[in-house]
Amino acid sequence: MSDLPTFADVVAAAGRLQGHAHATPVLRSATLDARLGAEVFFKCENFQRMGAFKFRGAFNALSRFDAAQRRAGVIAFSSGNHAQAVALSARLLGLPALILMPQDAPQAKIAATRGYGAEVVLFDRFQQDREQLGRTLAAERGMTLIPPFDHPDVVAGQGTVAKELFEQTGALDDLFVCMGGGGLLSGCALSARALSPGCRVIGVEPEAGNDGQQSFRSGSIVRIPTPRTIADGAQTQALSPLTFGIIRRDVQDILTATDAQLVECMRFFAERMKLVVEPTGCLALAGALHGGLDLRGRRVGVVISGGNVDLQHYGRLLAEGV
Ligand SMILES: *Cc1c(COP(=O)(O)O)cnc(C)c1O
Repeated sequence: MSDLPTFADVVAAAGRLQGHAHATPVLRSATLDARLGAEVFFKCENFQRMGAFKFRGAFNALSRFDAAQRRAGVIAFSSGNHAQAVALSARLLGLPALILMPQDAPQAKIAATRGYGAEVVLFDRFQQDREQLGRTLAAERGMTLIPPFDHPDVVAGQGTVAKELFEQTGALDDLFVCMGGGGLLSGCALSARALSPGCRVIGVEPEAGNDGQQSFRSGSIVRIPTPRTIADGAQTQALSPLTFGIIRRDVQDILTATDAQLVECMRFFAERMKLVVEPTGCLALAGALHGGLDLRGRRVGVVISGGNVDLQHYGRLLAEGV
């Protein structure tokens, strides 16, 4: 496909994000390095504005609206972080936002989205087709629909995570990336190919929702029912032709992680690194720890994708597990 975004689009997105997104820190852990025999570099997007990398893609996409689009505003459907990302970006850019959220989304995420000034409409994730609902509402109100991953400007924005990481660390041997619909993974793969050509790029998704792995291995997009997993940011049913097109070209493998492994990583981040990481944000580390790849002697990037988690839920997972 020739209409896939390129690294030039990532560079343009980085320019639009300059002064708006945080340049997030890269943290290390001597304990983890010793355990893996590797040098591990954590890209901490839990410290991004609104608490996840999704601000990058949303702000980039909304920055490109023309005058008519700005007036009518933006509509988005999201299980959480994309909602907050669109709501915050819309407020910063001064345009109206309508967000469709699942009624069982974490309370913290619903409250934060309303707090950013967006109008929130709740729907039943297991009964209603959110994409159809979104398109209907968008048509009614003349708003522009910005999807969580299936959009070239969103992918380009997410790619600035890895661009920034490689600028901070230099070349890497491996890059592990959390994966739902593959927006973050495909954007990061564009940056890896341009800035660290030998780097192995590996996506990690929930075991219960391994549509991406099935798609990658079979060579065509596999759709699954909404998976039940604590990784609520990765409950997507299928990759899109856009993300899959980049992933099959630029990604080396897709691994899976169990909910129990995600909890183990949440505990590691809290106890050893003093980081609050949401379950979905632990996917990449879980893949590095349990994916069966020999990382000894390698320089390994691990993207921590976000830190938005309901505190009661977080406490219960840390104390009791899954
Ligand atoms: C959305 C999200 C993901 C998955 O991103 P995709 O672009 O859909 O693959 C991973 N982690 C967090 C914290 C997210 O919010």
